[in-house]
Amino acid sequence: MTTDRRAELAANLAAVEERITAACADAGRAREDVTLIVVTKTYPASDVRLLHELGVRDVAENRDQDAAPKAAACADLPLTWHFVGQLQTNKVRSVAGYADVVQSVDRIKLISSLSAAAERTGRELGCLIQVAFDAESGARGERGGVAPDGVGELAAAVADAPGLRLGGLMAVAPLAGPYAGRQRAAFERLVEVSSRMRVDHPAATMVSAGMSADLEEAVRAGATHVRIGTAVLGVRPGLG
Ligand SMILES: *Cc1c(COP(=O)(O)O)cnc(C)c1O
Repeated sequence: MTTDRRAELAANLAAVEERITAACADAGRAREDVTLIVVTKTYPASDVRLLHELGVRDVAENRDQDAAPKAAACADLPLTWHFVGQLQTNKVRSVAGYADVVQSVDRIKLISSLSAAAERTGRELGCLIQVAFDAESGARGERGGVAPDGVGELAAAVADAPGLRLGGLMAVAPLAGPYAGRQRAAFERLVEVSSRMRVDHPAATMVSAGMSADLEEAVRAGATHVRIGTAVLGVRPGLG
């Protein structure tokens, strides 16, 4: 069973690797400029272990109740754990125990909770501001995230918060609003917002965008990190 699963994951990873390499070549970018993060949500710790054997070093999860036991079961592996889901403040303490990067920072209250939790654990926590292209000014998006004009305030708050390091920006292609169905335009906008943010925060270079269906558009727009679930692990049973 494990051998079959290992072979399946290896073949899927190779196919994704080929897509990223081709997208980088198309965009005139170096392959090393794009990091693959494998989204392991809904899949077991045994898959994370196989992925590690196959060379994966970055994994992502979106629900603390699944992620916490999985990260604990894989604590011996030198993996970077990214948290990419909407985060309630009552889960922050748990997430700060295993996450290296929280990609879904979208409000001030979350920043103070993350800072307090990072200080408590004594580990620096990387933070990306999640940008929502379906959000009205001052509001949050359907799937979390802050409207582009709210990024500056949150970036400054993360940069000032003890225990937190501002890593950059993250976005999910919007299902609604002016950018619905226009991934490429949304990702280009994200890269513009990132350039503007880097005037004040030059080290915050991460641009996390692109999933199984749209990684090519994200790489072309300038993403530094793609988050791939389905194309590596298979179609998730139910909603994930
Ligand atoms: C599930 C998820 C992904 C991966 O999506 P796939 O379409 O399975 O590649 C990426 N980013 C976030 C925030 C996710 O929740």
